[in-house]
Amino acid sequence: MTTAAATIGDEAAKLDADDPLAPLRDRFLLPGGVVYLDGNSLGPLPAAVAPVLTDVVHRQWGTGLIRSWNEHGWWDAPLRVGDAIGRLIGAAAGQTVAGDSTSVQLFSALGAAAALRPDRPLLVTDPGHFPTDRYLAEAVAGRESLEVRHVAPADLDGFLASEGHRVAVVSYSPVDFRTGELYDMRALTDATHRAGALVLWDLCHAAGALPVDVDELGVDLAVGCGYKFLSGGPGAPAFLYAARRHHAALTTPLTGWTGHAEPFAMSPDYAPAPGIARARIGTPPILSLLALEAALTAFDGVDLAQIRAKSLSLTGYFLRCAEELLTPLGFEPVTPSDTARRGSHVSLRHPHAYGLVQALAAQGVIADMRAPDLLRFGVNALYTTHQDMLTAAVRLRDVVRDDAYDPAPQPSGRVV
Ligand SMILES: *Cc1c(COP(=O)(O)O)cnc(C)c1O
Repeated sequence: MTTAAATIGDEAAKLDADDPLAPLRDRFLLPGGVVYLDGNSLGPLPAAVAPVLTDVVHRQWGTGLIRSWNEHGWWDAPLRVGDAIGRLIGAAAGQTVAGDSTSVQLFSALGAAAALRPDRPLLVTDPGHFPTDRYLAEAVAGRESLEVRHVAPADLDGFLASEGHRVAVVSYSPVDFRTGELYDMRALTDATHRAGALVLWDLCHAAGALPVDVDELGVDLAVGCGYKFLSGGPGAPAFLYAARRHHAALTTPLTGWTGHAEPFAMSPDYAPAPGIARARIGTPPILSLLALEAALTAFDGVDLAQIRAKSLSLTGYFLRCAEELLTPLGFEPVTPSDTARRGSHVSLRHPHAYGLVQALAAQGVIADMRAPDLLRFGVNALYTTHQDMLTAAVRLRDVVRDDAYDPAPQPSGRVV
């Protein structure tokens, strides 16, 4: 190592030694020899999941058969797992339901928002929003005769000053999935409310990564996924939060039978269940829900403020590594260094992002990229170490210095 790397190496050792969350890494089964920095796309396997799934499959399903809907709490799982997620996003019990994908939950939440503000014709979303959020905004707007306006969070105040009275809902993510920039949820929520509109937050990159406190902020609706920072496994169920004050008037566009007030009455007409249960749709994916429920125990006894402090320490440390080892080689950090504006991943710009991420993976460092030129390094305070960040930076430096990668762009259809 160079002297600089040796100095920041000492820093990594010290930060890890002083880390109160370090023992939590044992709650995950991370493969040996791998530095995993892609938990913001697919969280790793929590140790609690496999034993629970074995029991669910062999005993609950295999032996209990259909009786397990009652005897093992399958029927209530969407609300029970919803409440467990609620504890991580500052939602009191009874306002969060788990199930379906984020895309489906977005459709539900956008439709519900439009129905709560029927006299307002505009749906505001971020031009940089995740593609599915953008596509579904268009789809819902088409069905509800709304117009979509693409307004960046930084421009929201100005937009609302002239058009606020026409806005039904503002649909944003607190963290930009490309750059890792964190927006001011409180300021954006308050500005939206002053205009009389509703706010819908997509918490995919926030739930489990930082405190969001939806109740305290007065958020109207939120959605998020189960497989990123919540580590619920590939295709884990997503969640929908609706503030209690909206429940009585909440009508979602997907009025499935499990959201009915009397699902087993098999009534010909739909009547919504009281409370958040009306946001249920169809038969829940029990295996995935119970895997997610087990995964969430990795957060037991942990405070989101501690998670946030460590996440910022990891990303701040990685930005320092990048400055010393990588910016001289042509990398440009695009994630804000200001801690108030930084989510839980760091993105570096380099024209050969795809080939570099492949070369890093061959070296045991799993990160990811967003076309055309961003390398993303996600941290999860439950298991990531400062040493992981140093290893990633040093190996990335070596790959570039030794020209040991293929500069070809990302072929279509590849996940990473
Ligand atoms: C990951 C992510 C999604 C994913 O949606 P799926 O329906 O689970 O594929 C949606 N929105 C945002 C902001 C995301 O980060």
